[in-house]
Amino acid sequence: MSGTQTDIPFYMPVGNECRLFELAFRHKLPLLLKGPTGCGKTRFVAHMAARMGRPLHTVSCHDDLTAADLTGRYLLKGGDTIWADGPLTQAVRTGGMCYLDEVVEARKDVTVVLHPLTDDRRILPLDRTGELLDAPDEFMLIVSYNPGYQNVLKQLKPSTRQRFVAIEFDFPPADIERKVVATESGLPEEQVVSLVMLAQKLRAMKGHDLEEGVSTRLLVYCATLINAGLPVREAVQAAMIEPLTDDFDVKKGLDELVVAVF
Ligand code: ADP
Repeated sequence: MSGTQTDIPFYMPVGNECRLFELAFRHKLPLLLKGPTGCGKTRFVAHMAARMGRPLHTVSCHDDLTAADLTGRYLLKGGDTIWADGPLTQAVRTGGMCYLDEVVEARKDVTVVLHPLTDDRRILPLDRTGELLDAPDEFMLIVSYNPGYQNVLKQLKPSTRQRFVAIEFDFPPADIERKVVATESGLPEEQVVSLVMLAQKLRAMKGHDLEEGVSTRLLVYCATLINAGLPVREAVQAAMIEPLTDDFDVKKGLDELVVAVF
């Protein structure tokens, strides 16, 4: 392990995820993190990469992301053509960790480069340079996706998902979420109690009036605004209501919930 405690991003464990990650790393197994947006997946990966002392290459996938964005491409530089490694290739070459956030968003050709890296071959063929890279023992691939988005076109194919050890994430239980939000925002824990309570009520509405419940990330934003002096009701409006919906009637319903909690 390298680095001091202070180099390690704060992460409060919820279950056995740290142990599972460490075992997956030691045994060269790729890892899939499932769970809603803003529940701590990215922070968890940053924390574990620092704990394992490995450099981390994070890529937020989107629908234009191609295999070449991950592996690399030839660039023109001062009249010369030079090869520039993409983040996946950098991680393979240096024995780092590569985290592909929301991997289902990426183009189909991305899975083609991931497959030989996620079985016992652990290789990355670079067609354009003619190289065949063997991933060192320290290389680890981590991907995440949000199974909550009901888009059949954007599900991970079984042939891909069955290559990963998977951990299910969700918003932390209230006692842990209170500590997380207090630590991240600086707002005293007793002032965080009702925010977490409100978040739980909003999450219960998922699938009815709301597509997604409020994330831990938004709770941290809300507490940060309150800690900076914004009145609670205004902070809640800006960080916990407006980001969730544009629907006037739904917002009115949520406001009533806020009044009931505060
Ligand atoms: P995701 O990758 O799941 O979308 P993030 O990892 O970016 O979500 O989490 C959003 C924020 O929530 C983080 O920046 C952090 O402030 C906070 N967070 C959530 N869960 C935890 C946790 N268990 N420990 C520490 N921080 C957390």
